[in-house]
Amino acid sequence: MAVPFTIGCAPLQLSDRVSLGCGGHLTFSACPAFFPRTTTDEGDDKMTVIAADRFTVQALPRQVASYVREHGRDPVWGHEALTQLATGFGPCRLCLRTFREHEEMRTLFTYDTYAGVSKYPQPGPVYIHAAHCERYDGGGVPAELCGLELTFEGVAAGPRVVALERTADEAAVEDAIARLLDLPDVDFVNVRNMEAGCFIARIARIDREAT
Ligand SMILES: [Zn+2]
Repeated sequence: MAVPFTIGCAPLQLSDRVSLGCGGHLTFSACPAFFPRTTTDEGDDKMTVIAADRFTVQALPRQVASYVREHGRDPVWGHEALTQLATGFGPCRLCLRTFREHEEMRTLFTYDTYAGVSKYPQPGPVYIHAAHCERYDGGGVPAELCGLELTFEGVAAGPRVVALERTADEAAVEDAIARLLDLPDVDFVNVRNMEAGCFIARIARIDREAT
């Protein structure tokens, strides 16, 4: 069994949360061995996912990231984006990898967490790598997400958040998602950073995927 280790050190003060957006402390370990996994071996930077045939994890659309990187502002509100050295783990909303703190540059901008599913926006801060990265295109929850402290929102028509699950244990992630998607009213699940509240990704059923 993997021994958890800590990246990014101490919990933040309230003022740090404001300045860092979705930064914070992170306990990360490999996903539990009892989950079926698929692995792409890329040396130390390998990406392991919890294989899931019931749902898909949807990262930020590529065209949104491309627009922000090209224009330096978000495409909806036109708020100026901020690019700086990563001082928190993120993660990047496009590739869904955590940032290498004090090594990688990241860009902060405003994004509608209900983009594509509602005419009533819910804007909030998100981060992407400042440089090009590949959009996450796996079926399950990437290991670098399941090691975070996460809030899962079960979203029904409206949109209305009708149920919440919170996990700080990577072994509980898949069951938390499954409980929400089993609720008859829930159309999809939004994933947020538990501490900072920022939107990370959307999870949709494979049989009626929200787009
Ligand atoms: Zn990225």
